[in-house]
Amino acid sequence: MAALHSFYLAPEAWSLPFRLGGSEARHLSRVLRVKPGATVRLFDGYGREGMFVVDVISKNTVNLTLRNERITSRPPARSTLAAGFSKALRRGWFMEKAVELEASALWFWQGERSQAELPELEKNSWRSSLIAGAKQCGNAWLPELAMLRGGASALVARRSSFERAFLFYEGDTEDRLLRQEDLTGAGDILLVVGPEGGFSPQEFSLLKGADFIPVSLGKRVLRWETAAILTLGLAWWARQRP
Ligand code: SAH
Repeated sequence: MAALHSFYLAPEAWSLPFRLGGSEARHLSRVLRVKPGATVRLFDGYGREGMFVVDVISKNTVNLTLRNERITSRPPARSTLAAGFSKALRRGWFMEKAVELEASALWFWQGERSQAELPELEKNSWRSSLIAGAKQCGNAWLPELAMLRGGASALVARRSSFERAFLFYEGDTEDRLLRQEDLTGAGDILLVVGPEGGFSPQEFSLLKGADFIPVSLGKRVLRWETAAILTLGLAWWARQRP
């Protein structure tokens, strides 16, 4: 049985006549060399996915017929990871893993010790990393992506939308290790990781004062992407229990 290939079709394009264009059409026809008559899976990034039969493959478009579709509802307890903006190193890789681990939202915030400036506009490559991650793992939901300007205050401004918020701190958390029960239970959680340079004392006290609970992941000081992936991994793992 040939592998079932997945392709992204934006919600606004999810209507008759079903058609893939651009990079998704090229990926299907030239890279994967899928032939007419094959069955493929399309998803829209908002929980909707469908099984389609490939009808006509032309130069830059692929026409398909919908066989059946289903909606995967949004997970009840959502995890938002807010990472201090860092240099591009491994960012694409990180975003693909974040989709695999079902981050509901990925925010990049401008830390005082970030070693890169948040770009004016979200990079197209970021979205394609999320889509690549979703195609590979089958997650029908793409994380909401946001760039928060205004430093740690932007996180404080959004604190009230969450049941709980954790500040992953590389410094002294008075031995407050992250606990499994921090990540389970109802309600959305906000998980904040600092940039390469860590949190400044001002950022730490601002967030702690706004009911972000400082927690440690363990003795070693980890790189931001290790801490971020570990955090998302633990949140995903904790949700596997029925
Ligand atoms: N340059 C800083 C380290 C920053 S690590 C220093 O040398 O102190 C980047 C981010 O990863 C931190 O801000 C924190 O959010 C997270 N992190 C790293 N190690 C951690 C740990 N052991 N526990 C909790 N968070 C950690």
